[in-house]
Amino acid sequence: MNFLRLLSFNFIWAVVFLGASVVVPQLAGAQLLDPNTCASNLPRSIVSGKYGLSTCSLPIDEDSAIDTGVWAPWKKRPYCIEPLQSDAPAPQFCLYTFEPFRGSHGFSVVTTPVLAATIVDALDDAVVPPRLRDHPSSSLAPDARDSPAFAVENIPGKGKGLIAKRHIRKWDVILVDFPVILTHMGLFEVVGPETRQDILERALRQLPEEQQGEILSLARSSGGEPIEDTLKTNIFGVELGMEIPHLGLFQTASRMNHDCKPSAFWRYSVRNLAVEVIAMRDIEMGEEITQSYVPLGLTHNERKEGLNSWGFTCQCSLCAASKTHRDTSDYHRKRLLNIYHELNEVATGKANMTADAITQLTGEIENLVQKESLEAQLLVYYGVVARAYMKASELSAARKYVDLCEDLWVRYAGGEEDYQAGMHQLQHELKEREAKAIESEKARG
Ligand SMILES: [Zn+2]
Repeated sequence: MNFLRLLSFNFIWAVVFLGASVVVPQLAGAQLLDPNTCASNLPRSIVSGKYGLSTCSLPIDEDSAIDTGVWAPWKKRPYCIEPLQSDAPAPQFCLYTFEPFRGSHGFSVVTTPVLAATIVDALDDAVVPPRLRDHPSSSLAPDARDSPAFAVENIPGKGKGLIAKRHIRKWDVILVDFPVILTHMGLFEVVGPETRQDILERALRQLPEEQQGEILSLARSSGGEPIEDTLKTNIFGVELGMEIPHLGLFQTASRMNHDCKPSAFWRYSVRNLAVEVIAMRDIEMGEEITQSYVPLGLTHNERKEGLNSWGFTCQCSLCAASKTHRDTSDYHRKRLLNIYHELNEVATGKANMTADAITQLTGEIENLVQKESLEAQLLVYYGVVARAYMKASELSAARKYVDLCEDLWVRYAGGEEDYQAGMHQLQHELKEREAKAIESEKARG
């Protein structure tokens, strides 16, 4: 099963879709367990450099835990399973549980010993910034000073979902949630079904009792073993360590239903493991809070195909509209993609375009984006528009779109530095061009 099809809408989807190819990080191969290597010394570890944390966390597996009698900070001794026999070396997966995670929330993770070591720092509540810790929906909030903006309710034809309990403004953080179970994607590829079932059952049973009930009450879709079915039906695609894909199960965020014109998006922090659900537009009281399970901007057939993996037919306002309406929407979406590619040719120096033509296409983008409620994608469109203006030597217009693009990146990515690397590159390119322009101005005297 291709789980990458099942990753739900993270703000980064807009980029992934337009980038034409999804960059799939490789599964970490068999990593040798060196009991003397700090997680912070691992290549491209989240602990090293990136965030300046300094804990020396050593990888622990079942054998080393039995030998040394030490598995702190994990509260239960790790339980490890062997991968299927095959020619290619496959990683060993172990289960780690930390019950006091984020209050009495509980947390089980099935991953490699090396990746488990890289998240030890994230277990500490001190890494959660105050704005997330004190959010009324957070399991760390001292007491809910004002009630959450939503409630979990039954929605006809959809099971449970999140309903706004008051007016929610665009960009408001609606919900802060932490994972209860994280599993390495490789578990579904290199481990046999019985062994997988065994470790997932244990991952569940090692959580606080109240949490177990909550998890089993989440929606299921395939009719398979309850825990595996629940995981597959409610997952968020998140990363650990060296950008290794994992499936994340969240107690409340996982209740969010799909809509092709979603009212919210989410972002995830590898540093503190929080998922934030954020309003993409104003949401009225009584309205459902939704996300898109497929990339934004797809045509009707593409969405239908993508949603097939989730086992339902979308009945959102866009999919349930008349054929004429749907065809018009599809036409807009295809046109947007064509404009993107046209501008990208200019931005990458493969074609030329006058500044007037760029201005005209930019106007068309803004108009179509508004018609299709695809504002999130402006962060990608503005980037390509800015670069096209740079090539046409219209630096003041380029500056305008770099600034607009940056505003959106900050809105969507929040404080996550990693996500902003592309943005910094764009700023850098523009500054270089501006400096050159000033030089040649001087030279002309
Ligand atoms: Zn739909």
